[in-house]
Amino acid sequence: MTGGSLPTPRVESNRPAISIVVPAYNESAGLPPFVSVLSRTLDGAGLISWELLLVDDGSTDPTWAQIGALNAADPRVEGIRLSRNFGHQRAQWAGLAHARGRAVITMDADLEHPPALIPEMVRRWREGDAVVQGIRADDPDLPWHKRITSRLFYRIYSLLSGQALPPGSADYRLIDRAVVQELLQFREEGLFLRGLVRWVGFRQSEIDFVPGHRTQGASRFTTMRMLRLAWSGVSSFSVVPLRLAIFLGFATAGAAFLELVYALVMRLGFHRTEAGWASLIAVISFLFGMLFILLGIIGEYLGRVLSEV
Ligand code: UDP
Ligand code: MG
Repeated sequence: MTGGSLPTPRVESNRPAISIVVPAYNESAGLPPFVSVLSRTLDGAGLISWELLLVDDGSTDPTWAQIGALNAADPRVEGIRLSRNFGHQRAQWAGLAHARGRAVITMDADLEHPPALIPEMVRRWREGDAVVQGIRADDPDLPWHKRITSRLFYRIYSLLSGQALPPGSADYRLIDRAVVQELLQFREEGLFLRGLVRWVGFRQSEIDFVPGHRTQGASRFTTMRMLRLAWSGVSSFSVVPLRLAIFLGFATAGAAFLELVYALVMRLGFHRTEAGWASLIAVISFLFGMLFILLGIIGEYLGRVLSEV
């Protein structure tokens, strides 16, 4: 068991073929059934050399003690404990950093990601796929607002980032060691692994699955957390929101110009003006237009800095 420290490099021959990385936040009740289904599936598929890394993401329930018990029962089950709750994306990343397998499978601890998919993922990996991405089918039991917002998110994300992320892309996937090494270079705030995995390239394939039902407790994701993850995704893969200012700038400046023409026509053509009105409006809209354009220019440079980083 590694207690949050960096992994000590082990000899190559010790390397398991497959590491399963599972973030767990207050999942003490759900872990035993999950681990038993998972290890039965893995052993049943003849995958003898595997390790399971349970990442305790700062749980406030006995998750860590539970991991200890599971480790005592089967040493292939190991644990990493984060010093506080860092969130699901960071926990996955920490698991990737400690995984030793030649391929790593990330999945949730609540059996919503059916372990039965693993043999097919491994088969494809052996045939040369570097990423096998799980695609979650629409769950008719999910509340409608969750289904709509999820679909909307993938739409908007694909539109803004220019990167086609299939709707339902889950954090259930197999990644080859080469891709893991690439992902570990990204120590950024606002980590969005779904986008990153797609972005790094390599040979990728997709595998559809029908989500199972959470065995214990409720989703650890509140609406606020979902929104935060969505914003991480958009802001780390798109500079479009920054560009908004420059579009606004040109629109406002254009409106100011039209306003000016209108005022001049009224003044010269019809000799009609309200005292001070035309000049006041012209000056104000012109200044606002300039302001937005300048903000837009700053946005452009910020965008470049973001891309470089
Ligand atoms: N999780 C985590 N840290 C958090 C929230 C969730 O490690 O801050 C884990 C959780 O234990 C589960 C996975 O991430 O294994 C997915 O969480 P959940 O099932 O609550 O999300 P949903 O399936 O509703 O998207
Ligand atoms: Mg879940």
